[in-house]
Amino acid sequence: MINKKLEDLTPYKTETTRCRVRLSSNELPFELPEDIIYEALRQVDETKIRLYPDPEAKRLKEAIAEFIGVPEENILLGNGSDELIYYISLVIGDKGVLIPVPTFPMYLISTKVAGRNPFEVPLDSRFDIDTEKSKDVMGEVDLAFFAYPNNPTGNLFSREKINSLREKGIFIVVDEAYYDYAKDTFINEALRREDTLVLRTLSKIGMAGLRIGVLIGVKEIIREIEKIRLPFNISAISQVVATYILSRAKDYIRYAVDKVIEERERLEREMSCIEGVEVFRSKANFILFRTPFPADVVHKELIKENVLIRDVSYMPLLTRCLRVSVGKPEDNDFFLEKLRVVLKRL
Ligand code: PMP
Repeated sequence: MINKKLEDLTPYKTETTRCRVRLSSNELPFELPEDIIYEALRQVDETKIRLYPDPEAKRLKEAIAEFIGVPEENILLGNGSDELIYYISLVIGDKGVLIPVPTFPMYLISTKVAGRNPFEVPLDSRFDIDTEKSKDVMGEVDLAFFAYPNNPTGNLFSREKINSLREKGIFIVVDEAYYDYAKDTFINEALRREDTLVLRTLSKIGMAGLRIGVLIGVKEIIREIEKIRLPFNISAISQVVATYILSRAKDYIRYAVDKVIEERERLEREMSCIEGVEVFRSKANFILFRTPFPADVVHKELIKENVLIRDVSYMPLLTRCLRVSVGKPEDNDFFLEKLRVVLKRL
């Protein structure tokens, strides 16, 4: 008795192979300061885990509102932005969903789970939105997801192109998971318009394990999505720890993000110097690149050298492509050394 619409879905898989250097999940590579972690855990110790968490996650919402610089009433929190992507697919519109590809796989999965038709439109040769091809599906869709910067290509789509699709009557969701590394946002539109939402997450700035995603939009839309939010979707432990970290570690997060941006630029430069490697400029905390060899082979050879990155060559337009997260300087050096060794061997 399996729902026919879900028959072709496969479980979402991430890389779990154990390697000395793991650059596969776009997390922040630096640990938060020890004294802050220590105090956050002490507060966990005082948390009554016998009790349900605050269903509104009030204190955390205040901290996040201040951190992002938006009013609390314009925010809804999710168990990672993944959960929020589900909610959006269920609440906003009822026609097909436009998904420019290659992109983050959860948009497709959530669209199918919501029983809607996905319209996957390939990006153009510069990995920007193809407005011509998008026109073909205009009558069929009323919702679109844009990762901004896009994962795994790392670029920002052109704002004008996103706006032009919205002008055609499509509700737009701008997923700014990597905002801190690009510093370009649609928040002003999301705070004013009933046809725009912005997604953020704490996952890429040092708190992936806490699972906290943030949806930003006008009150009217937030209220609608609130109707289907699961009552206790943010655990008590996540609420306490994230609230404390945001109150104490803002400067550290900024410093760590700047360091990653610096390392991203260094990695781009050094990778471009390796013969046969084509690097795509990134505005996120990862880099997409292409080699002359099959990506699954490069991926496996790197694992033998104790380096884990992501093979993204199964995605449209990404033949022979892999994605590497920007890590700590010493891990990036290790990756560069092993990439040179592997490519020479093949
Ligand atoms: N959006 C994009 C574009 C992502 O790349 C990711 C994580 N890989 C997410 C959302 C999911 O973030 P979260 O950890 O908040 O669920």
